[in-house]
Amino acid sequence: MLNATSVLGNSQRLDGGAMFGNAPRALWSRWAPPDEANRVALACRALLLEDGSRRILFETGIGAFFAPELRERYGVVETEHVLLSSLASLGLRDTDIDVVVLSHLHFDHAGGLLAPHRAGASPELLFPRAHFVVGKTAFERAEHPHLRDRASYIPELPGLLRASGRLTLLDAKSDAESLLGPHVEFVETLGHTPGMLHARVLGRAARLFFAADLVPGRAWVHLPITMGYDRYPEHLIDEKSALFADFASRGEYLFFTHDPEVAAARVVENAGRFKPSDELGAFTAWDLDARSSPA
Ligand SMILES: [Zn+2]
Repeated sequence: MLNATSVLGNSQRLDGGAMFGNAPRALWSRWAPPDEANRVALACRALLLEDGSRRILFETGIGAFFAPELRERYGVVETEHVLLSSLASLGLRDTDIDVVVLSHLHFDHAGGLLAPHRAGASPELLFPRAHFVVGKTAFERAEHPHLRDRASYIPELPGLLRASGRLTLLDAKSDAESLLGPHVEFVETLGHTPGMLHARVLGRAARLFFAADLVPGRAWVHLPITMGYDRYPEHLIDEKSALFADFASRGEYLFFTHDPEVAAARVVENAGRFKPSDELGAFTAWDLDARSSPA
């Protein structure tokens, strides 16, 4: 068995213009209706994979580590740590997770590693048994950010991960089979941030590609659409273009972290234009070895 479950973390409301790069409001507001402050709804969704011998959590969302004023600034909707509640509804605690894989360390993907904010307390790592797997280049970026993306990182996090003694840094060519089993491989991209590590889960009946911030949700499946946060948008478009041809021919599902409604979708090509199809709102214990779709 190779069971995949989509797990919601805290949700966010961020500036729609920043989320859609150079796309005009008239266009993006049709895909993501903005509120009075121009913000659009975003999920922070994690993926849980259980193969009978280990539980792997791909990302942790933004979590609840921000102090109230920053929580407000970054539009985090809930005060509690939603990922922990979602795991609890599956009968799991953070202590049950064997490996946490982080595509990159932007706070909206890695903040859920930390305990909820308490006034006066310093940041504290959750998942006390888990090995933490991060791309080497993405980790270096978090330790030495550029002025342009410094605000996207949690300054204390790389040090906490190193001090845990349970950190593994790898690249797409590394052999991670002893940690992750034979059914996970990695693809690296640099358009969003250098060294972003995408897991590809290889079930015998279905494949899932962890799209991270290369394709945050359905709207970004359209090749020219990028985020204002992307470091190298032209690279990102080339990377999507190269990967999508493959996804379409193999029927691979893209897993979306930020789409507020859809956890995963396939992509189809029509006259050079890619669109999402076979959209899945959520799934629980989908055996990727046995079923080509959850239903
Ligand atoms: Zn990011």
